Amino acid sequence: MSFDPANNIQDLQYFGEFGGVNPSISDSSTYTFLSAKTMFDTFEGNAEGCYLYSRHSTPSNLYLGQALAAMEGTQTATVAATGMGAITPALMQVCQAGDHIVSSRTIYGGTYAFLKNFTPKYGLETTFVDITDLQQVEKAIQPNTKILYCETVSNPLLEVADIAALSALAKKHGLWLMVDNTFSPLSIAPAQLGADVVLHSLTKFINGSSDTMGGVICGTQEFIDQLRNVNDGACMLLGASMDSLRAASILKNLRTLHIRIKQHSANAQYLAEKFEADGLKTVYPGLESHKSHKQFTKMMHADYGYGGMLTIDAGSLDKANALMELMQERNLGYLAVSLGFYKTLFSAPGTSTSSEIPLEEQAQMGLTEGLIRFSIGLDNDIERTYQMMHDCMKEVGVL
Ligand SMILES: *Cc1c(COP(=O)(O)O)cnc(C)c1O
Repeated sequence: MSFDPANNIQDLQYFGEFGGVNPSISDSSTYTFLSAKTMFDTFEGNAEGCYLYSRHSTPSNLYLGQALAAMEGTQTATVAATGMGAITPALMQVCQAGDHIVSSRTIYGGTYAFLKNFTPKYGLETTFVDITDLQQVEKAIQPNTKILYCETVSNPLLEVADIAALSALAKKHGLWLMVDNTFSPLSIAPAQLGADVVLHSLTKFINGSSDTMGGVICGTQEFIDQLRNVNDGACMLLGASMDSLRAASILKNLRTLHIRIKQHSANAQYLAEKFEADGLKTVYPGLESHKSHKQFTKMMHADYGYGGMLTIDAGSLDKANALMELMQERNLGYLAVSLGFYKTLFSAPGTSTSSEIPLEEQAQMGLTEGLIRFSIGLDNDIERTYQMMHDCMKEVGVL
């Protein structure tokens, strides 16, 4: 494959103002102008290279945005304070009262709650569908539909969206295809498969050290300019702007993302194969038993593997909780939400990150109460980790 996201990041070159190998951090909320005319032009959006106020943009934020645009192969990108701070303005910029969204039903709990509970107050309705059923997706499209929304690899069930087919549907009906790629950075590049907008929570794998939050919207220059417009831009007006110090630190972590993703993927593949061989119900896109294994394989950049996320079914919530508590006690990881940390993180989505989804809907989509979601860490000796996890599973009766 000729598109290599890690090469694209590597090939960018920036220097600090004193020749530093890291760009200087712009630690200012406001910027001076040499002339009043330039200030006016900047407010009108016509002064390329001028900064006005840090809610709009900052040099540090632009560096990070540029690197993430290179990673996804979009014209440009704008960063935000959190993943939700990127997703919500992207959706709201495109829609107005009376519009409609078709969304995958297996999406991040916060995004689900936003579309289900929040946007209807403003006259924006959403139909939730099984994104792997293209007929169902097309049937849900209405004359007022504006956006087709999904996650490349869904949270927490790891369903894989056929981005190229969804893009064809979106084009046929004149819709925007917006894809949250948080679970599969580097492995899959949705814009290369036809997505119009690619979103990430940088809080997860991309930053990778669970020390900050962040988000990004990758898209065309025209769309990103709209989002930042001082008069009607959702990023500018809703105000979830990233701080420059954070942008600088995330940019530094982004440089090792390719190395980390390879290790997360290799470790998750190893554990998934072992768990499945032990007879556990294991969901991981790198397993041939996964219903979207072929789809993922078709879309992926082979160097980066099937990602760091897997789930197992412990059989009941009590067993899931006992297993997670014991694994934490043995220092195999932390009982915590979120993902992409160097240590393994585990949680039971039904009672945590997906608790926004009503129980009967959870059951419908296959989200059982004994489900444990793992974000597999960067463990150097994954065989040892497996042995220790196996012992825990025996002790609590999961095996
Ligand atoms: C965490 C997450 C989000 C939200 O990101 P925040 O940084 O927590 O605001 C959105 N989508 C997915 C898939 C996520 O995992």
